[in-house]
Amino acid sequence: MPAFTKKDIRENFPQGLLPKGRDVRRGLTSGEIDLVKTSGSTGDAVTNIWNQKWWDASEKASWSLNSVATNVATGEHREAILANPRNVGFISDEAELPMEKRCLSRFLYLNEKTDPLSWTPEHMDRMIRELEVFRPAVLEANPSLLARLCRYIVSSGKTVFQPGLIVFTYEYPTKFHYQQILQAFRVPIASSYGTTEVGYVFMQCEKGKLHQNVQYCRVDFQPLKPEHGGPHVGRILVTTFNNPWYILVRFDVGDLVRLDEEGACPCGRQGGLILSTTEGRSANVTLTCGGRLVTLRELDNAVSVLEDVEQYRLDQLSRDEYRLHLVSPRTDRKTLSGQADRVLEKLYGEEADISVVFETDIAPSSSGKYSISETSFPINLEDFLDTRYARKATTIAG
Ligand SMILES: [Zn+2]
Repeated sequence: MPAFTKKDIRENFPQGLLPKGRDVRRGLTSGEIDLVKTSGSTGDAVTNIWNQKWWDASEKASWSLNSVATNVATGEHREAILANPRNVGFISDEAELPMEKRCLSRFLYLNEKTDPLSWTPEHMDRMIRELEVFRPAVLEANPSLLARLCRYIVSSGKTVFQPGLIVFTYEYPTKFHYQQILQAFRVPIASSYGTTEVGYVFMQCEKGKLHQNVQYCRVDFQPLKPEHGGPHVGRILVTTFNNPWYILVRFDVGDLVRLDEEGACPCGRQGGLILSTTEGRSANVTLTCGGRLVTLRELDNAVSVLEDVEQYRLDQLSRDEYRLHLVSPRTDRKTLSGQADRVLEKLYGEEADISVVFETDIAPSSSGKYSISETSFPINLEDFLDTRYARKATTIAG
């Protein structure tokens, strides 16, 4: 079977995605469903049928995959969310929204501003104060935004309320994000992987591996060719279960993952796929000068050896041209630039033409999420899949 894509959702929306006998207008009138537009971090934005009841159930099932979440997430617990309001919450860029206008049942949205570069010390002091007052059991955070808040907490010598668990979602957490966040928080962190379309797909357990939310989805794994990271690195296609209002089969979520080579975890959980890690979005892959695929994780592992870097972004401008943007308080820029150059040359090849640009800050993309790496030219991920396991969509259609 071919992969189902965002384009397919657009072309078949809504009737082709509904179970037999369901009527979108009736669902909207009865309040069982909403229509939700995704921010479109890859390709164009897409409208989905949103069934809150199913979403909540999918989330709840994912908590059983982490023992800390099992203990602190009761379903009635308080949760603070630090996200870009373009992705979730309430947008208010001009006026400040008071706390009560950012509360919705058991949730508190800490940030109403779409541009994190506009955060002032007062805005971040307010977040710190509200965490103290609200005392959430869980802090769900976009890692780049939480890292930003933590850099402020550490540099200003402040302390912050410690929730029972921090859950990363929305973005790939880089090693710098972890380092910065662990300077302000000393609590367990779990990465939750899912999307608006398919709900909660993987949850990181207390031992660090990611387990599939088997009650709510099936995951098909398609490895990359061996020379590009296969057989353990590949893309995933997700088929959702139990949603009475929305059916997706083999949906290409646009992410790469790494299967755990042992296929077992010391936590003892079995069933479904076990990942050692996610590898970042397909839209974030870059290529070496020799044409080998480099995932965001591989790039992040390489760049993370640099010291005192707050943020970075890599743009691949052509086959052998790379531009690294760095934000760092270091004053020895020439040394840092040379170190960065050597790190990237080792990864991308000796003939790589590397430039390092120092920035005062880096803005997220228009979707509200950060893009850590990107190519200026299109890459079709299907060209890198192992053809023994995955056929190109065009081959199937023909
Ligand atoms: Zn485990």
